[in-house]
Amino acid sequence: MTILAFALLVLAATRWAENGWGSAAWLAVFVAMCVIRVPHSLRNRANIVVDAHKDVFEIGLLAMMFTTMMLLPLLHLATGAFSFAAYRLPDWVIWIGVLAQLPFLWLFWCSHADLGRNWSAGLEVREDHTLVMDGVYARIRHPMYLAIWISVLAQPLLVQNWIAGFLVIPAFAAMWFIRVPREEALMRARFGAAYDDYCRKAGRMMPRAS
Ligand code: SAH
Repeated sequence: MTILAFALLVLAATRWAENGWGSAAWLAVFVAMCVIRVPHSLRNRANIVVDAHKDVFEIGLLAMMFTTMMLLPLLHLATGAFSFAAYRLPDWVIWIGVLAQLPFLWLFWCSHADLGRNWSAGLEVREDHTLVMDGVYARIRHPMYLAIWISVLAQPLLVQNWIAGFLVIPAFAAMWFIRVPREEALMRARFGAAYDDYCRKAGRMMPRAS
C-alpha cells in the first residue's frame, strides 16, 4: 500500500507540467499533510481503545474520504485517468487554492499537536482519554475538521477535475453531517457535564461570541 502510494506520488510529480502548477501545489501539500499525520498515527497505535464505533457508516465514510481526498487525485495526477472530466480555471483562482493551504496546514498541525494521544482517525475513546479544551480547541470544538474543510474546498481549485478534484466536497459534507453528531455524542457519553460545559464555551467551527 505504502509502496503503491509512493509510486503514484513519484509518477504524479513527474507529470506536473501536464497537470498544471496547481496540481503540483496540491502534491506538495499532500506530502506535508502526511508528514504531519503519520507520526501521530504511528504513536497512537499503542493506545488502548475502550470504545470504538466501527460500524458500516463509519467505515463507509472513512473509505469515501480516503478515495476522494487521496486515491482519486493521486491516480489521476499519476496517470491522467480522468482527463475526460477536466475543467480549467484561471490562475488567480489557483492562487486562492494555494493561499488556503497556509491556514489549512497551520490548523491541521496545531489540532494534531493539541489532541496528542487523544487523536484517532476513527471514532473512538482510548483508555485515559482526556477532554482537550485548550490550544486551538479553546474556542472551537472541531478545528481539525475546519482545517479539512479548507483543504477540501481548495482541492477542486488545484486539481481541476470533477472526479479527482471536486468529488471530495460532497464526500466530506456527508462526513461532517454524519460524523460530528456521533462524535459529540461519544464525547458526551465519556465526559458528561464537562463536555456540556465545553460546548457552551466553544462553537462547532466558529468561536462563540462571549
Ligand atoms: N472533531 C475534532 C477531532 C477529530 S479526531 C476536530 O475536528 O478537531 C477524532 C477523535 O478525536 C474522536 O474519535 C474523539 O475521540 C477525539 N476528540 C474529539 N474532540 C476531542 C476533544 N475535545 N478532546 C479529546 N478528544 C477529542
